[in-house]
Amino acid sequence: MEKVIDIRHLNKSFGNHEVLRDVNFSVAKGEVVCLIGSSGSGKSTLLRCINLLETPTGGEIIYNGENILDKNHDIRKHRTHLGMVFQSFNLFNNHNVLKNCVVGQQKVLKRSKQEAESNALKYLEIVGMDKYVSAKPSQLSGGQKQRVAIARALAMDPDVMLFDEPTSALDPEMVGEVLKVMRRLAEEGNTMLIVTHEMEFAKEVADRIVFMDKGVIVEEGPPSQVLVNPQHDRTKEFLKRTL
Ligand code: ADP
Ligand code: MG
Repeated sequence: MEKVIDIRHLNKSFGNHEVLRDVNFSVAKGEVVCLIGSSGSGKSTLLRCINLLETPTGGEIIYNGENILDKNHDIRKHRTHLGMVFQSFNLFNNHNVLKNCVVGQQKVLKRSKQEAESNALKYLEIVGMDKYVSAKPSQLSGGQKQRVAIARALAMDPDVMLFDEPTSALDPEMVGEVLKVMRRLAEEGNTMLIVTHEMEFAKEVADRIVFMDKGVIVEEGPPSQVLVNPQHDRTKEFLKRTL
């Protein structure tokens, strides 16, 4: 299968603290990969290396066949191919919902206002937020904000959606509405790399589960293997604590 992200021997240290150690893994086109592991295991750092918010200390990240760590690689252009959804929403609080989903398309992709708005509306409808185009983020619940953040990322027509614990900051009653949207995106064939603690969700939607511990990929495979019949003691320990 065609690899969108191919990571080889990736290392990342902060000072003498090794946060990622010889990480090897890939994401194929249309694949949904859930990355799980305890807090501090390096999941966010791995995502941040993929969109070059962090510079790896060693190894390679091949993105659609190109080595993005090559010093001649255009970082800004690279980031336009990735949709990023964070725990903390990161909406523009001074803009309404529609504008939040339009500015990136206009500024970065140079789309006309009309084109950007119709594209934004298409995705706001998918996430069920098309009735709120004029609302400001401060008027929305956490679940609604996160759904707008997902629509905003999708409106850039990314190759891959990266999610970093998208439901961790939400009140429990709002987790379901965000997972529902993500489930739909997974079913529609979007390529997704998701850091999550929602094990039931991961079991349902993931083609592959990657378990990280202390900067190392300990185990990976289909949910039926990693979540149901884990091979490593560290995976068993982690699942015992989370389930
Ligand atoms: P996770 O997302 O799995 O909880 P992180 O990738 O956020 O883990 O962090 C992994 C380790 O790297 C932690 O020990 C964290 O303290 C450290 N770390 C992350 N970012 C930085 C940074 N900018 N400077 C120093 N240490 C960092
Ligand atoms: Mg994290």
